[in-house]
Amino acid sequence: MSAAVRICVVGALGRMGERVRAAVAAEPAVTLASLVEGPGHPGVGREASGLVVGDDPEAAVAAADVVIDFSVPGATLAALAAAAEAGVAYATGTTGFTPDQESGIERHARAIPLLRAANFSVAVNVLAHLARIATDLLGEGFDAEIVELHHAAKRDAPSGTALWLGETVAAARGTSLEKVGVLSREGEIGERPPGAVGIQTLRGGDNPGEHTVHFVGRGERIELAHRSFTRDHFAAGAVRAARWLVDQPPGLYSMADVLGLGRAGSGRSR
Ligand code: NAD
Repeated sequence: MSAAVRICVVGALGRMGERVRAAVAAEPAVTLASLVEGPGHPGVGREASGLVVGDDPEAAVAAADVVIDFSVPGATLAALAAAAEAGVAYATGTTGFTPDQESGIERHARAIPLLRAANFSVAVNVLAHLARIATDLLGEGFDAEIVELHHAAKRDAPSGTALWLGETVAAARGTSLEKVGVLSREGEIGERPPGAVGIQTLRGGDNPGEHTVHFVGRGERIELAHRSFTRDHFAAGAVRAARWLVDQPPGLYSMADVLGLGRAGSGRSR
């Protein structure tokens, strides 16, 4: 029997970090190697899941085969740089990066296997796949509008998943979300530009995340929707991705690669 894959969790005491620790504990093929939190977090130096929580990403990644990261953009950049230096694989689900940070992240894929997923849920990745197929089949007569709903504490908007779904639809139409995305509407906005991809954001309560892609035609409409009731499927998907990633050569990967879904977009997590 091969040794269990050693996992470092960055953002270990956060909402997702907690569920990742539980998912690792439930999977015999992986084991927790180290936990990282932000300097100054009250949990640093204390025990969680049988390990002492640290705030030094270099020491933490060196003890692992692969990192699973759900934190904040600055923490991801620091831990990823340490992983690239140490030659340790890295799977990140953090969202909210600036375009400059995006480029900085992707540079590290030359050194290590790096997986970015705006959403680690297998079902959401199937939703993205279906959205691409629907875009191909429906053609230009249907307007694409994406609506997302998340808990009140979410820091970034729209969600990384909504942006990724928007990019998926735009790419299937041979363009980019940067060119056709409409991320907010207010006041005298005029007619909807042809080919626009709209994204609307709702916030409230403790909702782990909902995404609906509307294809609005004349006299009819399709909705492709995913609703999360827990964070456990994100954590399970991240553990699955981490196990897959340790056997890959350096490069930039997505959940579509893990799941064999073909081109469904990279799941950029901005
Ligand atoms: P959270 O605020 O509960 O957790 C983030 C954690 O990161 C906190 O514990 C915080 O203390 C920690 N942190 C801050 N600075 C750090 C540092 N320098 N080093 C290490 N840790 C540090 O947030 P959350 O709900 O767990 O979400 C975290 C991220 O994951 C967000 O960007 C969110 O959008 C994203 N997310 C992605 C998916 C997915 O499937 N890809 C799913 C859910 C959430």
